[in-house]
Amino acid sequence: CGVAGVHGNREAANLVYLSLYSLQHRGQEGAGIAVTDRSKIVYEKGMGLVADIFSQEKLDKLQGDIAIGHNRYSTTGVSALANTQPITVTINFGQISLAHNGNIVNADEIKEGLVARGAIFGSTSDSEVIVHLIAKCGKDNLIDAITDSLRRLKGAFSLLIMTKDRMIGVRDAMGMRPLVLGKLKNNGYILASETVALDLIEASFVREIEPGEMVIIDDDGIKSIFPFEKTTPKPCIFEHIYFARPDSYLFGRNVYEVRKKFGRWLAKETPVEADVVIPVPDSGVVATLGYAEASGIPFEMGLMRNHYVGRTFIEPSQSIRHFGVKIKLNPVREVIDGKRVVVVDDSIVRGTTSRKIVKMLREAGAKEVHMRISSPPTAFPCFYGIDTPTRKELIASTHTVEETRKYITADSLGYLSIEGLMDCVGSENYCHACFSGEYPTMHKNSE
Ligand code: 5GP
Ligand code: SF4
Ligand code: MG
Repeated sequence: CGVAGVHGNREAANLVYLSLYSLQHRGQEGAGIAVTDRSKIVYEKGMGLVADIFSQEKLDKLQGDIAIGHNRYSTTGVSALANTQPITVTINFGQISLAHNGNIVNADEIKEGLVARGAIFGSTSDSEVIVHLIAKCGKDNLIDAITDSLRRLKGAFSLLIMTKDRMIGVRDAMGMRPLVLGKLKNNGYILASETVALDLIEASFVREIEPGEMVIIDDDGIKSIFPFEKTTPKPCIFEHIYFARPDSYLFGRNVYEVRKKFGRWLAKETPVEADVVIPVPDSGVVATLGYAEASGIPFEMGLMRNHYVGRTFIEPSQSIRHFGVKIKLNPVREVIDGKRVVVVDDSIVRGTTSRKIVKMLREAGAKEVHMRISSPPTAFPCFYGIDTPTRKELIASTHTVEETRKYITADSLGYLSIEGLMDCVGSENYCHACFSGEYPTMHKNSE
C-alpha cells in the first residue's frame, strides 16, 4: 500500500491526492483521503485508481489544512470498499483517521480477543485492530494510547494517524516499510511512503522516519519520540527489487542505483554468451541496464508493453496462444529473430508469466532464451505487506532451479544470490524472508 499525509496547508487534500497519484504503483484496488478543518474529519473513498475515484467535485468537499490518504493493495482481507482506508472512527479521544502500509502478523489473535470482549469490526482488514486497541487501552492521552497499542503489534507498519489538529507518522521498530518526511514549498509538512510523492508536489526531502520512530506534527512543529524497544532494522529488500519506483530514495539509497547494481551482480554471478539482453518491462528494465553494462551484451527493448491494460478484458472465443500475457507484452521480432537472447526480470513468483514469455520469444525467432532474475528464488510467502501467493503456489517452493528452468522451457535460468542482494545494498540488515525463510518475527504457520 501507499500512504501520504499533509499538515499545515490549505490545499492539504489536493496535495494528498497528487501524492497518492504518484504512489499508485503501491496499490490499485482502492484509495481514500480524509481531511480535517480542525472541527471535524470528513473523507472520500472508492474502489479503483486514484484518478478515477476523485473528481474535482469530490476533492472540493475535502476542505481543511490536514489530510491523510491511502492506496490499497490487499494482502489481508478481501478487496472491498469496507477495507479501503483511511479508517475514520470516533473514539474517546474524538475523531481519528488511520492509514496503514504493512501487515500486522498477530491481527487475528488480537481481533479474537477484542471480539470476545464485545468489539464490533466493520472490515476484514488487519489495520482495523489498531484503532480498536487505541480506543480500548484505557490511557488518558492519545499519544500514550497509540504507543501502548502499537507495542502489542507484531509485523510491519508504516502508519499515518490524523486527529482534528495533529498528524502522526510512525514506523515499526524494524522499519520494514518505508516512510519519508518532506517540507512543502509554502507551508507545512508531508509524510509519504516514497520520495516520488514529494517530487511531484515540489516538497523538499527532509529525511526518512527512522525505524521505531514516531513523529507528531502540529502547529508548533515536529516532535520525535522512540516509543518502542530498540531492535535490528529489517527493511524489506523486495521494495528495492520490485515494489518501489526506481526514482525513489528508500532506506538510504536510490532504488534505480540499487536495481542497476542487482543487474551488474547478476551478470557476474550468472554469465552467459549471448547476442542481446532484453528486459521484461517495466519491472526488469533497470536491472537489465546493469546486466548489459557488466556483461558487455547490447541492451535492446525486445518486448514492448501496452500500458493501457485494464483490470479485465474480453477473451476471444477462439483460442489465441499466450493471450493473457500477449495483451500486455509483445516481442519486437527485429530484435529477437536469429539471436541468442538473455531476458531479465525482477522475480519469478508462479512461473506462468515467465513460461509464456520464453515461448513468445522463441516464436519471434530467438535461437536461445536465457532467463535471468534479479532476485533469488521466491520460495516463501510474505507476511509483512507484499501480496505473495501461498507457499504451494510459489514455483520455487516445490521446484529446484533446474526444474523451474524446464518448466519455463528456457535454455538456462539464473538468479541473483542473497549475498549478492545484500552486497548491493551494503547491509545484512534487510528482511529477505521470502527468499530465505528467515522471518524476522514469529508468525503463525499459515499456508
Ligand atoms: P511469474 O513468471 O511468476 O508468473 O511472474 C513474474 C512477474 O510477476 C515478474 O515480472 C514480476 O515483476 C511480477 N511480480 C512480482 N511480484 C509481484 C507483485 O507483488 N505484484 C504484481 N502485480 N506482480 C508481481
Ligand atoms: Fe519484503 Fe520478502 Fe520480507 Fe516480505 S518477506 S517484507 S517481501 S523481504
Ligand atoms: Mg514484472
